[in-house]
Amino acid sequence: MSFNSLGLSDALLKAVSKQDYTTPSPIQQKAIPLILEGKDVLASAQTGTGKTAGFTLPMLQKLSQGQQMRKRPIRALVLTPTRELAAQVHNNVKAYSEFLDIRSAVIFGGVNQRPQVATIRNGVDILIATPGRLIDLQSQGLLSLAKIEILVLDEADRMLDMGFLRDIKKIIGLMPTRRQNLLFSATFSKEIKNLANNFLHHPVLVEA
Ligand code: AMP
Repeated sequence: MSFNSLGLSDALLKAVSKQDYTTPSPIQQKAIPLILEGKDVLASAQTGTGKTAGFTLPMLQKLSQGQQMRKRPIRALVLTPTRELAAQVHNNVKAYSEFLDIRSAVIFGGVNQRPQVATIRNGVDILIATPGRLIDLQSQGLLSLAKIEILVLDEADRMLDMGFLRDIKKIIGLMPTRRQNLLFSATFSKEIKNLANNFLHHPVLVEA
């Protein structure tokens, strides 16, 4: 199995080839074609399995194929439990979008919001965020989730452990109901299953 057989564009394959990856990891082999097909995916994957590229590569492909709007509304949102993970996902998104006309930004709490707001105001296609800062900026009218096409809940079990369920529900309520949902979690508790039942549309289950 090679990256070439997953249905990814040349621009993405070029970005992948700049990494040291030889073959796609099991989660990438399974998740990438499903996400490209537009399916909702419920994935069980630990850190270190290559899950980030597993959702980022197809997300980038879908966004770059989609309609580019002049004002660049946020079209994809990746929610993460911590600022460290948010920054890490953003680094991946930047690396894989090197040869695409796609802009991304990361926002998290504990730092001044002003530079984050300025970046968003310039127009971003993909936002990576922790729930608290996202709600904060949205409630100040500084960002809109009305054009979201793809939602990724990364390390969803950790987000629930950290008490973010209410925030997640609130955030989802701000997005269009017609969208693609990807939920990644290391464990599948009752709470994760409930979340999936409530917010995913006929999800395909994928295990690393
Ligand atoms: P993740 O599980 O997304 O946190 O990724 C863990 C590490 O695996 C990161 O350092 C990635 O750069 C790396 N990685 C992702 N995909 C592959 C791959 N197909 N082959 C080798 N390493 C990879």
